Amino acid sequence: MAGRHRVVILGGGFGGLSAAISLKRAPVDVTLVDRCNYHLFQPLLYQVATGALSPANIASPLRDILSRQKNTRVLLGETADIDVANRRAILSDGAIDYDTLIIATGSSHQYFNHPEWEEFAPGLKTIEDATDMRRRILLAFEAAERERDPEKLRAWMTFVIVGAGPTGVELAGALGEIANDTLRRDFRNIDPSKARIFLVEGADRVLPTYPPELSAAARRMVERLGVTVSTGAFVTDVRKESVTIRKGDQGETHPTRTILWAAGVLASPLGRILATKAGATLDKADRVMVEPDLTVPGHPEIFVIGDLANFSHQTGKPLPGVAQTAIQGGRYAAKAIENRLRGEKTQPFHYMDKGNLATIGRGFAVADLPGLRLSGLPAWLIWIFIHLFYIIEFQNRLLVFVQWAWFYFTYDRSARLITGKNPLPLDL
Ligand SMILES: Cc1cc2nc3c(=O)[nH]c(=O)nc-3n(C[C@H](O)[C@H](O)[C@H](O)COP(=O)(O)OP(=O)(O)OC[C@H]3O[C@@H](n4cnc5c(N)ncnc54)[C@H](O)[C@@H]3O)c2cc1C
Repeated sequence: MAGRHRVVILGGGFGGLSAAISLKRAPVDVTLVDRCNYHLFQPLLYQVATGALSPANIASPLRDILSRQKNTRVLLGETADIDVANRRAILSDGAIDYDTLIIATGSSHQYFNHPEWEEFAPGLKTIEDATDMRRRILLAFEAAERERDPEKLRAWMTFVIVGAGPTGVELAGALGEIANDTLRRDFRNIDPSKARIFLVEGADRVLPTYPPELSAAARRMVERLGVTVSTGAFVTDVRKESVTIRKGDQGETHPTRTILWAAGVLASPLGRILATKAGATLDKADRVMVEPDLTVPGHPEIFVIGDLANFSHQTGKPLPGVAQTAIQGGRYAAKAIENRLRGEKTQPFHYMDKGNLATIGRGFAVADLPGLRLSGLPAWLIWIFIHLFYIIEFQNRLLVFVQWAWFYFTYDRSARLITGKNPLPLDL
């Protein structure tokens, strides 16, 4: 007797997890593979990077989430290759056979052909990235407290954020609050509110994908928090102790010890593997050009969803790399698999745009929702509600709510811990 249909899902992020959960009642055996043992709520990573939340508040063990789902097993493993001809996902330490494969391994940040910048300008994608950023921010204030040389002190007290998309704007707002409010009473030699925070963006406005009036509102708000915004500006060099920025014909080098990278996205290396092994076409960000049903051309057994997919059939432009795109893609792939097993056809994927939100500091957000554009406190309340709603486990939802309430009234960021290897002696 033939066994049940085997669905292998690579990646337990928004896309992969939503596919797995949607297959709960399907007559299939599901294997979910991820190199982390947890699902990460990336939209709140910047709050870990700025000490407002702890890593465990925004991550939930995949095994726990899927523990009651009888047809699903979770494997901790790194996908290294795909044997398309033999329908096998090759892990760094084994292999799994599939009948249908769903690839949802997401994306990472990129440095526009300057991988050497990463060492001095970390990006934000993983828990490790967030705790590294937190460490750098807090160590900069610690070093400033002990620094006597005015030039070096200025560099420690200068923070540069590259990229003014939602993550850059959110980081800038949070840094402004750390400097002006959270650390206000913590130091004796320095005044944290004297920190200089620069937000650098290549486009002509912050939040370039939002409507111009929301970009303008967001800019006003970050500036109110003490951030200097520079648009139409490009980073041309990143070093341990400086960053060089070109605006028009002018180039300027700023001494700084803290550069945070929030620009540029590159799809997971599995895209390139699909290009080689399945003849997939990639776009400039290495995303896989998928068919209207989210499969790889010529391979109806391989779905690609979320940040790794370029789906341009609906509007002529790729869908945004946001959680909703991945969640809806995951649900669609699950539905399409069930339909196929019943011998039924599935309509092409249709993305429902639920809008975008970005928050800037305590009590302010911008919301670009279908038929509604808002900024200020009402948008922030919507932001809070939606983020709490999508955090995966009730326990974390409750913990985050309590932390936010505490933060709202006290400005305290109790997770401002310097972790990782011993930072001493300080690099003064
Ligand atoms: C800092 C930040 C802030 C964001 N803010 C927002 C926001 O406010 N709103 C919003 O809608 N979207 C936001 N996004 C975007 C959103 O998080 C992504 O669009 C979404 O996570 C994409 O889902 P995915 O399933 O494609 O990939 P991911 O959620 O990234 O999941 C990919 C998974 O694959 C795993 N993986 C990767 N490679 C391998 C491998 N080789 N083997 C095994 N496992 C692998 C990873 O561990 C991960 O669990 C943000 C992203 C970031 C980084």
